[in-house]
Amino acid sequence: MKEININKIYYVVVLCAIAVMIMGLFINNVRMDEFELDYVVHIILVVTLSMCLLLFPKVRTDSLRITITIVASVYFYALFFLYPETSSNFILLCFIPAFSILFFDSKLFYFSLSLNCAGIILLFGYIMIFDQGQQYPYIEEDLIGNVINFIASQIIVYFIFYLTNRRMIKQQLYYEQIQQSERLKTTGQLAAAVAHEIRNPLTVVKGFLQFFQQDTSFSADRKGHIALMIDELNTAEQVISQFLSVAKPEKEKATEKVDVKHVLQSVTDLLHSYGLLNDNQIQLKITDECYIAASNIEFKQLLINIIKNAIEASKTGDLVFVTASRENDKVVINVIDQGQGMSEEEIASLGTPFYSLKSKGTGLGMMICFNIVKKYKGRIDFQSSKGHGTTVTIRFPSIEYKSN
Ligand code: ADP
Ligand code: MG
Repeated sequence: MKEININKIYYVVVLCAIAVMIMGLFINNVRMDEFELDYVVHIILVVTLSMCLLLFPKVRTDSLRITITIVASVYFYALFFLYPETSSNFILLCFIPAFSILFFDSKLFYFSLSLNCAGIILLFGYIMIFDQGQQYPYIEEDLIGNVINFIASQIIVYFIFYLTNRRMIKQQLYYEQIQQSERLKTTGQLAAAVAHEIRNPLTVVKGFLQFFQQDTSFSADRKGHIALMIDELNTAEQVISQFLSVAKPEKEKATEKVDVKHVLQSVTDLLHSYGLLNDNQIQLKITDECYIAASNIEFKQLLINIIKNAIEASKTGDLVFVTASRENDKVVINVIDQGQGMSEEEIASLGTPFYSLKSKGTGLGMMICFNIVKKYKGRIDFQSSKGHGTTVTIRFPSIEYKSN
């Protein structure tokens, strides 16, 4: 639909241009009665240029673009030579590169600009050496003034090109981004539907396996295999539930007042026994009353993911520190571990779906965290050194306790 409109406008403009060119051929043209070679050249150029312009929407090739640029240049220079008495032809010469701006091709523009500068040098050279001001006195008499005017006009044309081109590039980028996010949205929805469908059979299979596990007729060896299967199914289930929590369509939920202290306490209590598996304690230090505007569940999910990662990265017996405080208008939460740490490349990969260095990792935790942080206008930063540990800093805009 848009394409048709653009084409319509193009044809209207081109037909107007052709009409003007034809008017130039027939209305009050002094060469028309003589009908000599120069007039024939004029006709040939008008016909060629018109054909090329009319053909362009159908044949959008680079060679046609170059041909149009060259033929248009030749046409304007020919007008200048064929009708020396029409001094305004010089103005047309100055604006030849403007033609190529319409094709939104920067290489073509620079080509046209260079061609025009070379053309003008040759033209002025011809006028000064051969013509010596006979046909073009207005140029010969003030050559410097004309050169300056020509340079000024090329700068103006370049400026127009620069602004138009920049806008075009921006628009193209924007368009590509929209297309990309649309694609992601569709594939995300599709993947979520598939993930959901996979979860049901998984539950059934897991149920039967659990049932077999109770069955005394199976040997211990077989039961070991069954346990392994259940374990793998649990991992698959975990991946699917984490994935679904990312991919589920966002219902705009109103944010609530989240008591950071309260959530941190409940999360550390929850993860306490998880930490004990490898003798990792979680130490919590909250220095201020902190409240943020977010969703309690999502904020909890964010902290669980980050503290769990810190525990998983820690060596046996290491402490994980969690601090929360208020800095100006921000609530700042630090999760500090002395674990394996990350290289800069590893930090850069965080948040990429399925990026995980763990044998049983899902690689979705950080992606969920990034989404939650972004959703509530927060920020997440990582400071890490390989082998020495990681500090994850989360900042959220602070809200007053009494405010709504
Ligand atoms: P998962 O925990 O399932 O692997 P995440 O998205 O939570 O997925 O984390 C991705 C990867 O980032 C982890 O596999 C780990 O390599 C790295 N990572 C995250 N947090 C830390 C941390 N505190 N210390 C070291 N590495 C970390
Ligand atoms: Mg994780």
